[in-house]
Amino acid sequence: MSLMPPYLRSVMRRYLRPTQVYESIHDIDFNHLYRDLGLRHLFFDVDNTLIPYSQTTLSVQTLNLFRAIRPIGFSTIGLISNNSNYTRIQTVSQQLNCPAAVFACKPFVFTMRRLLDVHQASPHESAIIGDQLLTDIALGNYLNMHTIFVDPIEPDGVSAFKAAQYRWQQRYLSRL
Ligand SMILES: [Mg+2]
Repeated sequence: MSLMPPYLRSVMRRYLRPTQVYESIHDIDFNHLYRDLGLRHLFFDVDNTLIPYSQTTLSVQTLNLFRAIRPIGFSTIGLISNNSNYTRIQTVSQQLNCPAAVFACKPFVFTMRRLLDVHQASPHESAIIGDQLLTDIALGNYLNMHTIFVDPIEPDGVSAFKAAQYRWQQRYLSRL
């Protein structure tokens, strides 16, 4: 039995259900996104999507993945992070040679809207890839983007609030 009113459930389904779910960014078929789904713009969350909080250097695998994505032909490969640590996100952005938006305040839409505007990207041709339903996925769904959820790389060692959120989203996704 659930105490949740039915309309709330449908609102949650509308905004929190990702288009695709993967274990990690390495499982995503980027050729498929480009060729079959017509996506042209990719926006990646940074923390725990590309790199754990505990690190500042990207793994060789992630560097190679980005090297492999480039020739596919996406018009935009950008980073969008809620982190306010400019230096940290800048370090990641330089390693990947991708533009980054810092302190994006996801799930608020203003930063993402600005990025779509700057890159002349239609939401239907754009994907957001991230590890949090309540920020990355909710924002992307609200803007009618393609939303790709990946499991957080390192779910331990985060704040109690985020740990609770990780546990909740894990349960929520398993029930979908
Ligand atoms: Mg994240």
